[in-house]
Amino acid sequence: MKRKIALVTGASRGIGRAIAIGLARDGYDIWLNYRSNDSEAERAAAEITSIGRGCRLLRFDVTDRKRVEGVLEPLLRLEVPYVLINNAGFADDTMFGLMSDESWDAVLNVHLNGFFNVTRRIVPHMIHARKGRIINISSISGQAGNAGQVNYSAAKSGLIGASKALARELGKRGILVNVVAPGLIETDMTQKIALGKITEHIPLGRAGTPEDVAGCVRFLCSEWSDYVTGQVLAVNGGLYI
Ligand code: NDP
Repeated sequence: MKRKIALVTGASRGIGRAIAIGLARDGYDIWLNYRSNDSEAERAAAEITSIGRGCRLLRFDVTDRKRVEGVLEPLLRLEVPYVLINNAGFADDTMFGLMSDESWDAVLNVHLNGFFNVTRRIVPHMIHARKGRIINISSISGQAGNAGQVNYSAAKSGLIGASKALARELGKRGILVNVVAPGLIETDMTQKIALGKITEHIPLGRAGTPEDVAGCVRFLCSEWSDYVTGQVLAVNGGLYI
């Protein structure tokens, strides 16, 4: 049987790493992208190889269009991922009146241009193969909006619109495009947030784990979701319903 490959961006840490490890458990070899944290990326790769799956480390900044192309194109001539997870990202929170040009640009850049730069390389190959799954990691902030996150909410909401449009374009080619929108998940990104105050408002009474998100992504990569496309699956413990 031909091996299945999943490309996961931002998979050295947090949610992306849990997704990569989960998909490895489901039988995928992993192309593991990260920006700069070599030691964490190597730790994630070691965990994947200990499961018995292959792991190729791809160090590139998803906002660097030329480098994305330079890394991916030679690989894509030989093999095509069945799954693409656009997960790389970060927040840079501040009230709108104080938001700098750099903060606005950087946050839109990583989530929207990052999605575009990577996905445009993979999609022609998926079309040729007439199969594939694309899952974009948005956020509760993109669904509900969040004070102090106008840049991040705009980017994550934009990603939902892009995913719905792409799902309509690619459905007839056998490619499913969906969104997973996490709520508050315990990772490095949320380390500085006082979780206690927010968990009071979460019906399930706790913050989420990266594995909570990974479970839903694994579902969307599996045969159990063959008839699901263009959807936003919220993984937020009921924080936004
Ligand atoms: P982490 O900060 O824990 O991890 C971020 C990952 O993204 C790292 O692997 C990092 O690489 C990588 N990364 C960041 N910028 C780039 C870039 N420009 N190019 C390539 N890789 C990059 O974040 P989370 O796991 O918490 O978040 C993952 C995704 O989930 C993000 O898109 C985030 O917006 C979203 N999300 C998170 C929520 C949360 O509560 N944590 C809630 C909703 C959505 P490196 O290690 O090299 O720095």
